[in-house]
Amino acid sequence: MVYCKKCGTENMDSVTFCKNCGTSIENMEKQKTSRTVEMVLGIIGGILGLLGGAFALIFSAFAPSVGGLGVSAVIASIVGIVGSAYVMQNARIGGIILIVSALWLLISISAFAVPGAVLLGIAGLLAILRK
Ligand SMILES: [Zn+2]
Repeated sequence: MVYCKKCGTENMDSVTFCKNCGTSIENMEKQKTSRTVEMVLGIIGGILGLLGGAFALIFSAFAPSVGGLGVSAVIASIVGIVGSAYVMQNARIGGIILIVSALWLLISISAFAVPGAVLLGIAGLLAILRK
């Protein structure tokens, strides 16, 4: 949602002009909620997830059963980073992607995933709940 700077009317993100007073969207975009926090948290979370996945892959040299989980964690982290970028376009869908990647990461490599999953989860919740 964007709010018209001139009259305060709430408009859909897709509109070009305010439905109430006709002011152009350029005057509204400045008030659009910034999703930079969610994006940064999500990217850091994704990078931590990648590190966790890399750890699991290195660990799998000693315990081969962990290897698949490491690969799964790496994919989950990439999904999380994609979600972080998407959150700028669509906060709700981006947020859902972030939360899914956080849960996926936790399921994949449990303890290794905690730092990344926590950040991805927070980013996802902020994207969905923060107006
Ligand atoms: Zn207006």
